[in-house]
Amino acid sequence: MGGKPANHNPPASPLLPADSEDSQLRLRLKEYLKPEDIEQVMAAYRFSDAAHAGQMRKSGEPYISHPVTVACILAELHLDPPSLMAALLHDVMEDTEVSKHELAEKFGKTVAELVDGVSKLDKIEFQTAAHAQAENFRKMLLAMSQDVRVILVKLADRLHNMRTLDVMAPEKRRRIGKETLEIYAPIANRLGLNAIYQELEDLSFKNIHPRRYAVLSKAIKAARGNRKEVVGKVLDAIKHRLAEMQIDAEVTGREKHLFSIYTKMAEKTGTFSQVFDIYGFRVIVKDTPTCYLALGALHGLYKPIPGKFKDYIAIPKANGYQSLHTTLFGPFGTPIEVQIRSREMHNIAEAGVAAHWLYKSSDADLSALQQRTHQWLQRLLEIQSESADSVEFLEHFKVDLFPDEVYVFTPKGKIMALPRGATAVDFAYAVHTDVGNRCVAVKINQELAPLRTELRNGDHVEIITAAHSKPNPSWLNYVATGKARAHIRHFLKTMKSEESAVLGERLLNQALRALHADPSLIDEARWEKLLRDYGVKTREEILTDIGLGKRLNIMVARQLLAMAEPSGEQRQGKLGAITIRGSEGMAVQFAKCCRPIPGDPILGFINKGKGLVIHTHDCPAIRKFRMDPDKWLDVEWDPDTKRLFTVNLKLAVANQPGVLAKVATGIAEAGSNIDNVSMEEGDNSAYTNMHFTVQIEDREHLARLMRSLRKIQEVVRISRVKGLATENKSQ
Ligand code: MN
Repeated sequence: MGGKPANHNPPASPLLPADSEDSQLRLRLKEYLKPEDIEQVMAAYRFSDAAHAGQMRKSGEPYISHPVTVACILAELHLDPPSLMAALLHDVMEDTEVSKHELAEKFGKTVAELVDGVSKLDKIEFQTAAHAQAENFRKMLLAMSQDVRVILVKLADRLHNMRTLDVMAPEKRRRIGKETLEIYAPIANRLGLNAIYQELEDLSFKNIHPRRYAVLSKAIKAARGNRKEVVGKVLDAIKHRLAEMQIDAEVTGREKHLFSIYTKMAEKTGTFSQVFDIYGFRVIVKDTPTCYLALGALHGLYKPIPGKFKDYIAIPKANGYQSLHTTLFGPFGTPIEVQIRSREMHNIAEAGVAAHWLYKSSDADLSALQQRTHQWLQRLLEIQSESADSVEFLEHFKVDLFPDEVYVFTPKGKIMALPRGATAVDFAYAVHTDVGNRCVAVKINQELAPLRTELRNGDHVEIITAAHSKPNPSWLNYVATGKARAHIRHFLKTMKSEESAVLGERLLNQALRALHADPSLIDEARWEKLLRDYGVKTREEILTDIGLGKRLNIMVARQLLAMAEPSGEQRQGKLGAITIRGSEGMAVQFAKCCRPIPGDPILGFINKGKGLVIHTHDCPAIRKFRMDPDKWLDVEWDPDTKRLFTVNLKLAVANQPGVLAKVATGIAEAGSNIDNVSMEEGDNSAYTNMHFTVQIEDREHLARLMRSLRKIQEVVRISRVKGLATENKSQ
């Protein structure tokens, strides 16, 4: 930024008398502030002056001249004292030792928050020049300035830095000029700060293209001389006509700003003289009805050009701008553009959103002001449906006043917009589906954070992925974007259906073998007929359906072999058992009621949609189905299971100090992990019941574990828990 101090410490500048900044500022404040408000602002000035003592701007002036000018720019807009104090103090946190806390104590919380807000904006840097990025960057700035006054101070700061950019190297002038043109000028425009907007554009142009600027401004100066006569003549005619109609009005001539002439020429909508030869006038009257009277009077004076009239009073522009626009055939055939508006409309046109933070001398004025601000916003909401442009504006305004989006940086400095409440997982999916599916951790501002962390404006987010990582169903609890939700759901479903297809194939092969057919010898034609019969496209679909229990393996096998429907007797007992390895994934589930482990006699139930659920033979939950072999599948353990299984244990232990530790150590020594433990008082107070959920390999392992636990003196009773009675407790 142009305002950074150079780091040498000469004595106070001999070039300026000590109180010159002081008096310049005081003069401005006296125009509209009460004496006690002036004192407050001057206190902020003295504090800032002391804090920046010895610092110089690159131009050689004392540093304090910068915050004073920034405050003066805002005083011209008649902003309230907190805004001016924040302007005076806007660089003290960045450039001196002063803390936010200290500012709050001396000048109140509001001022401290404003200064802090401006300092935060200074820290984010605009990197890419892409158009879409500029848009997001503007939104980010607005979103970060929760108080519009923050952005007002920032714009004034940028304006002064732009005015004094000449002392910088050409490269830096170009870069800052571009940034201003792409970021800050559009914000000023959007907020309706017309004067600041135009000056920022002209200064940007001057610093990006110094030569073109020089040529064009010379041409404008020359042309202005020729125009004088026409302008004077039209001005007199308008004034005269309005006076005749007894309309009290202030009439002025106006000129397009330099940069808008340049862009119009660059867009080839006209040569210099065509662009410049349009004469502009402004008529300011006392109220809305008078605007329309004045319009009628002018249309009687010069003929209006058809199709050029615009009523921005009935339908205000998105940024709140109101006026009547008309173009007339002037004398000598030159087109004349006229804007007609009331005084109040004029204030808003010049100061835009700042008009709502205008300084008012009494509380009554203040509440009237708040009410007007509210009405203004209300009106914005109402016009939302009327023009696409205002929808766009509202969206920008919303991030400011109704914050519902966050803007964060990718590791490459790209800005990404996410809905408010979005987490690191949302960000990962926004970057790329693969990044989302494989994310395992996140670094936010260079620090590791949980994936569920909510992102804040300006965060730098870096996702850490692992090749074999998969989405976790628990992410669904905290993702905020539809995209992330859809991708996680899709992934889980696909994974389940893939695993179900593998299981389905095994179930089908088992059935085929039971019918004395070799699965590998079934020819294509049979499969194709089956697909047609079922009306499905792929073999995979049928296998998935079998795995999910939507089709019976034996029925599919028979159809595939073109065999007749079996009788109930034939079906029974003919199927060999299907082996369970424990590695089938989501297609095979182990019932939580009985928690079967390798070595347990087991039964399988095909659960529609859920796949195969394995219970122990003696599980009380399945007692009523046991006698109905149509409902269950014969399953057995593969001798080579390679995973850990969960079991629930209940121990009655004597109440002795340290007994829990002893049991836990015993479990660990038997090579098992504890997933969960809970305790309750036993049948009499001498005993406690402990419930453990532990992980073991198989029945043998469990037996070993129970043996070693029995050796502990305090353990009175130990049993494995199966069945529904303890289901809730053991979850
Ligand atoms: Mn500054």
